[in-house]
Amino acid sequence: MHNYTAQIHFFGGTDNVTGANFLLTYGDKKILIDCGMIQGSPEQELRNYEDFPYDPADIDVLLVTHAHQDHIGRIPKLVQDGFAGTIYSTAATKEISAVMLDDAADILAFEATKEGRDPLYEKKYIEQALALWKVIPYHNTLEFLPGISMILRDAGHVLGSAMIEIHIEGKKILFTGDLGNSPSPLLHDIENVQDIDYIIMESVYGDRNHGDRTNRSHELEMVIKETIFNNGVLMIPVFSLERTQEILFELNDMVEHKRIPPVPIYLDSPLAERVTRIYEKSTEFFKPETRKIINSGDNVFDFPGLRISATKEDSQAINDVAPPKIILAGSGMMNGGRIIHHALRYLEDEKNTLLFVGFQAPGTLGSSIQSGAGKVRIYREDVRVRARIHSIPAYSGHAGADELVDFVRQTKDTLRAVYCVMGEPSSSQALARRIRDELGVYADAPHEGVVVDIPLK
Ligand SMILES: [Zn+2]
Repeated sequence: MHNYTAQIHFFGGTDNVTGANFLLTYGDKKILIDCGMIQGSPEQELRNYEDFPYDPADIDVLLVTHAHQDHIGRIPKLVQDGFAGTIYSTAATKEISAVMLDDAADILAFEATKEGRDPLYEKKYIEQALALWKVIPYHNTLEFLPGISMILRDAGHVLGSAMIEIHIEGKKILFTGDLGNSPSPLLHDIENVQDIDYIIMESVYGDRNHGDRTNRSHELEMVIKETIFNNGVLMIPVFSLERTQEILFELNDMVEHKRIPPVPIYLDSPLAERVTRIYEKSTEFFKPETRKIINSGDNVFDFPGLRISATKEDSQAINDVAPPKIILAGSGMMNGGRIIHHALRYLEDEKNTLLFVGFQAPGTLGSSIQSGAGKVRIYREDVRVRARIHSIPAYSGHAGADELVDFVRQTKDTLRAVYCVMGEPSSSQALARRIRDELGVYADAPHEGVVVDIPLK
């Protein structure tokens, strides 16, 4: 036993949902947990170009919870700036990250050219990152540095998502990453944890619940029927990872059971399509009920009427098809991607509907529209928002406040501290307050740059 004190440095994903980046130090060992992009307004996103607040060459290991951009987006920059340690995640997280980073690199390069500056990173650093990247299955204990081991637990958030439980000197430190909105139609529920000493936990919905989830598929069905009745266009901005596959799963069910009339449904996102192919071959991670449907011969992500728009021309050709029609397109927060040209074309018509099925970060176009902006600016044009705006919060990929509190409750007897991060400040603070008041456990919402001691005695 060394009786070191470990420390956690809160660098990113504090005072903010996105940009997760935490540093755990123990003796002379330095372990990063996630290395994500900040997502939000263009000004906020400029922060991604800043130097890391540590020397990447000093980092021994990077542990990755899951493949969302706000957890992986700056990994190639970390490598470009000198990181040469080992990266660990589940196999699915590595495979999806390769696709997500590749897609992001093209967008970043395009933006950099437009703005006349260097891109965030050169594309070759994605390859280098993947060469440093090892995979481990859930539930295998691995001593990845002398005296420090970890075990990955299913976070039920996206395919491959993991909570990272780190063991040092008999103490357990849990980084939750993002926690799913269980039960998901596809993935297992958030796994139970026990005997945890410290939790660094997400708090996106730390101040609110999502409402009745059993009803969400019915709500989606109603929105679709209404749009068809109005002979309109239904636009659904989707995140390529998980939300797309969940919505496809539910549309598959509606179409195959004839709950909605046959209308063209476009998956207008090459990235979402690539990720869906990974889902199709990873069904061993799905819950038993869903595996049963798949084993009966149904591809749950494909159905009559579904059209994949591979190219830009395919995407533009959607405009030529008369309504009613349904368009799933990225990006999920409307801060880029093909959803933008559809919004430009269809937002001004009250027959159409824009449906939000995920979190909209402040500063994004999606957030302005969702909070009721009557007019927005798209491609230098003023666009009046006359389409119906609808949100189904129950489709969120994140656990609601009650689930977060219940998650902590299961291990409250051994907990010494909970640090609420990856939320807007009001949300993180609300969750910390509930954990203190309802569970009697020390909890705080640390600001960016804070360092806390993790006593191991
Ligand atoms: Zn996530």
